Amino acid sequence: MHELALAQQILHIVIQTSQEYNFLTVSKIKIKAGELLAVVPEALEFSFKIISQNTVAENAQLIVQQEQAIAQCQHCSLEYPWLKYGYQCPSCKKQGGTIIRGRDLTIDYLEGD
Ligand SMILES: [Zn+2]
Repeated sequence: MHELALAQQILHIVIQTSQEYNFLTVSKIKIKAGELLAVVPEALEFSFKIISQNTVAENAQLIVQQEQAIAQCQHCSLEYPWLKYGYQCPSCKKQGGTIIRGRDLTIDYLEGD
């Protein structure tokens, strides 16, 4: 239950943020999930619905947007889609790409009252 653990992380941040902004209810949460996390959006939404009961985010709509995994070549600094080319740079053809995006889960925005 990978999605359940992620849903718990999201809920934790949402609760903290709503305390900062004095939200009584949270209506919308948009998150960006890195491609490499291989999140199933429906599973994440379902898990979140269950664990957010009786919290500030109880009726919140969770919107999951997948974020493309990007690697950067250490030789020519090119940024390219990792799932397509892996560690080999499509420009200079050298091995040694480093993944710079696509592994994280971030909250893009939060709406509440
Ligand atoms: Zn390169």
